[in-house]
Order: sequence, then structure tokens, then C-alpha cells
Amino acid sequence: MATLQGRTGEWEMVIGLEVHAQIVSNAKLFSGASTAFGAEPNSQVSLVDAAMPGMLPVINGYCVEQAVRTGLGLKAEINLVSVFDRKNYFYPDLPQGYQISQYSRPIVGKGKLLIDLPDGAVKEIGITRLHMEQDAGKSLHDQHPTKSYVDLNRSGVALMEIVSEPDLRGPEEATAYVTKLRSILRYLGTCDGNMDQGSLRCDVNLSVRRPGEPFGTRCEIKNVNSIRFIRQAIEYEARRQIEILEDGGTIDQETRLFDASRGETRSMRSKEEAHDYRYFPDPDLLPLELDQSWVDEIKATLPELPDEKKRRFVEDYGVPVYDAGVLVADRETADFFEVVARGRDGRLASNWVIGDLFGLLNKSGLAITESPITAEKLGGLLDLIADNTISGRIAKEVFEAMWETGKSAGDIVEEKGLRQITDTGAIETAIDEVLARESAKVEEYRSGKDKLFGFFVGQVMKATGGKANPKLVNEVLRKKLG
Ligand code: ADP
Ligand code: MG
Repeated sequence: MATLQGRTGEWEMVIGLEVHAQIVSNAKLFSGASTAFGAEPNSQVSLVDAAMPGMLPVINGYCVEQAVRTGLGLKAEINLVSVFDRKNYFYPDLPQGYQISQYSRPIVGKGKLLIDLPDGAVKEIGITRLHMEQDAGKSLHDQHPTKSYVDLNRSGVALMEIVSEPDLRGPEEATAYVTKLRSILRYLGTCDGNMDQGSLRCDVNLSVRRPGEPFGTRCEIKNVNSIRFIRQAIEYEARRQIEILEDGGTIDQETRLFDASRGETRSMRSKEEAHDYRYFPDPDLLPLELDQSWVDEIKATLPELPDEKKRRFVEDYGVPVYDAGVLVADRETADFFEVVARGRDGRLASNWVIGDLFGLLNKSGLAITESPITAEKLGGLLDLIADNTISGRIAKEVFEAMWETGKSAGDIVEEKGLRQITDTGAIETAIDEVLARESAKVEEYRSGKDKLFGFFVGQVMKATGGKANPKLVNEVLRKKLG
């Protein structure tokens, strides 16, 4: 368990996360305006998004479908009736003066998510709810020395707020949770998960307690926008709370900001309560009613998700559990692996993808979809190892040449004459030459210096340009020296 040592003993962190995930949809939640990222400010704002008087919201059915799909992916209850409320507050980038959100009747209820911990253990984290709401616009403070500007392009974009139970116990679990959630959303195609573009943002709720005690008072750290910052914010905030409590103080329930440049959290405002927002059902929108048959149709088209894929990779391809977790983290890698592994040695395929291929991809900053070596070609290389055309060692050389040229393994082996020598006669000739040249060492070996065997193998391999079949070399050498 992740406990922290304080001056006066052990403390445990209790963490619940609220993740805001932008829904993948061409149009906004209640208007037809585009959601494309990076457009000219205020170029994607309909009259609804600008809250012009008399405008009425019209719900985007595709966004509802995406929220349901996400709920199903989180193994959650889908509520066939849900309600949109107005959450009232003033912000310069919120022209309506309220956010349309869901409060007492969200579209998705309780679900769960499995996180994979570094030691290989799996822990179930409860999902409290998922509700749909509008995103706000953006205030731009860095465009003018004395003025702030407002960009309403984001105003009205559909969000899913996904709330976890306070089941997380430290930064490892919290970051594993966000990573896993992002992976599932990407598999589902319901959120692109790009934290650097703000499509996925996280509010961290954290309290500390003595192990076994009831939960303490929490603080909420708003809008933490990278996995690394989530970890830093948690580490800082836990220390801050422990220090206050150990000095005999109490924690004020408040909303805090994470300042990435200083690596610390600081107070933003005292915590608002739900009643401060004067929630009430939005009179412009009817309750949202879904047919069970429609939900079932969506369920029938869900893709295979990471947990199931992982289990299948372990069972069908014999991939070690940890490696399977790495392979399924994103769909592109999993698909790539499967093309390599199908009909071949799965463990070997996994080693090549995670070891050699990831190594070169990382070094050159390429995504697996940009790999100069396609999955089919990597499969071809494995075939040449399997049928003894090349040894595992030569395969590394062929692999590098494939990376440089994009050619197939077979072409490179032919061009460079790397075909393994499996002809016993040729291997015998090479061995005879080596033994004749190294007669002194042969004497030493025969008088008991067994360790020299490796030396002879090395010399024969060198003499054959590494192409001799190592197993045959070993056999013939033993016979000749014995
Ligand atoms: P609010 O609207 O007040 O932020 P929510 O219900 O949306 O409340 O979110 C509360 C979040 O805080 C949840 O993720 C929940 O798991 C977490 N949480 C609740 N109590 C505690 C606690 N004592 N310590 C840490 N996290 C908590
Ligand atoms: Mg909240």
C-alpha cells in the first residue's frame, strides 16, 4: 500500500478523480458548429454557442451515442432516462451564464475500471457516474498587455465528466487510472485523449488519513493537464496536508490550482457546494429518454477492449502478462502485434515488437503507424528465423537494414548473401581451417581447458561471416574436438 511517512507516523492518501473528456463528434452538444481543434478564434461559434437571446439548444444524437458507448465500455449502468440541468455561474467565457450539465440524473451510473499496477497486480476502481455537459469557451490572457480576450470556439463542445470513487491510494494508482481510462476512450473512439490539446483534463480530489481511519477532508485540484502533473500535484498536495495535520491544524475544503512551473498547488477559492449553483432542470430541454434496444445495438458494436485483448494475447499467443499489457495499451500497437504474431511464435513476435521495434521507434520519435517496417514485413523476418534461413543474430542485422531501406527481410538476405550455412560440408571445412590454425589452443582444450570451446565457436562464426548455423557448428565442433 502506498503510505507516506510523516514526522509523527504513517499517512495514507485517498484520491478520487473527475476526468473531463471531450467527446469525439464533428458538431457540438447542442449546436451544429464545428469542434475542430486549432481554428481561428471565434470562427466556430453558432448563435446558440454565443447564447444569443431566443436561441434554443437541440441535442446532438451522436454525442449521446458516444456517451452511452463510453458507459458500456466502463461496464456501467446506462440510465434510460436522464435530465439536463442548468448549473448557474458567471464566467467571461460562459456567455449563457450557466452550463448545461447533468446533476441528479446522469446518463451513466455506476461502473468500474481495472488498473494495472507496476508490480503486475490488477485493482478495480469504482466509477461513480458519467454525465454529459457543455464545455466553456476560453479566456486568452496572453494576447494583449492589458486586455483579456475570449475565444468561444470551445463553447458548447460536448464533454463527458467521468467521476471515480475515492478508491485510489497514491500517485501510481491515480496515473494508472488516467492512463487506462484514456486507453479505453481511445479504443472506443469516444475521446481522442490528447491531454496537450485539452481534450482530456483531470480534477484531482485528495485527502490524507491515518491508515484505517475514516476519510479526511479533501481538496480538489482543478484542471491538471498531463499525467506527469497529476503525479506532481498529488505528491505536493499530500505533503502539504500532512504537514498541516501534523502541526495540529485542519484542512479547509477548497479548490486549488496546480502551478506547473513551481510544482505546487495553491488556493483558488473555498469549495463551492452544489446548492451554490442553483441547479434546476433546463426548461429548454426535455428529459433524455433512450430505448433499451438502441443501447443494445451500441453494445453489439463495441470493439474488443484492452482487458479482453490482454487476456486473449496471453491465452492465444503465450505472451507474458506484463508484455500483453504493453501491447494492448493502444489499439494500433495491438493490431500491429497481432499481424506479426498470427500463425507464428507469439512470444518471439512480442519480443521483437516491444524490444527491437519499440527501441528504434522511440529513438526516432515515430509512432508505430509510421514504422518503416510494416507488420507484414516483420512477420516475414520471423518466418526466416523459424525456417532456419537466418540465425537470430543475423536477424538483428537484417532488421536494421529493413529499417533503413524499407525492404523485405527476404530481399535483404538475398542481396547481402546472409542466408545461413546449414550445409554440414561447408561448416566442416570452416572448422577444419580454424582448428588447423589454432593448433596450440586445440592442445590446451584437449588437456582440459573446456572453456576454450566458446572461443572455437566464435572463430568459426567469424570465418563464416556469422552465417553458419550455430547449432550445427556446436555439433560438428564437439565431434571433431572430442
Ligand atoms: P464535487 O462536485 O463536489 O466535485 P463530485 O461528486 O463531482 O463532487 O466529485 C467528488 C470527487 O471527490 C469524487 O471523485 C470522489 O471520489 C472524490 N472524493 C470524495 N470524498 C473524498 C475524500 N474524502 N478524499 C478524496 N477524494 C474524495
Ligand atoms: Mg467536481
